[in-house]
Amino acid sequence: MDYQEYLKSEGWKAKRNMILNMWGNRCALCNEGGELHLHHRTYERKGNEDPYDLIPLCKTHHKMFHEQLSSSPKTERTNTKIEDIIQKMEKFTKLQREKSQDV
Ligand SMILES: [Zn+2]
Ligand SMILES: [Zn+2]
Repeated sequence: MDYQEYLKSEGWKAKRNMILNMWGNRCALCNEGGELHLHHRTYERKGNEDPYDLIPLCKTHHKMFHEQLSSSPKTERTNTKIEDIIQKMEKFTKLQREKSQDV
């Protein structure tokens, strides 16, 4: 299946909903609801993503995220906001993992 088709599939929709629910239907940066995009932290598992590979961002922050990622070399991503969110994300995923192990 090609990736564009995958994005229209039921499997993707279910995954998307699950991740949005995990984050409370809010942008991970500003807690804004509304139109949310799922940002891939990695495309390593493209088509079969781990829920932790994806992060919901509002339109504005998604654009910002990409602009910042592309404007700084991989080794020097020192932008505070990005570092913040990655930290927040790590904490959050750890919490979710612990929670899911409880069940
Ligand atoms: Zn936002
Ligand atoms: Zn993205």
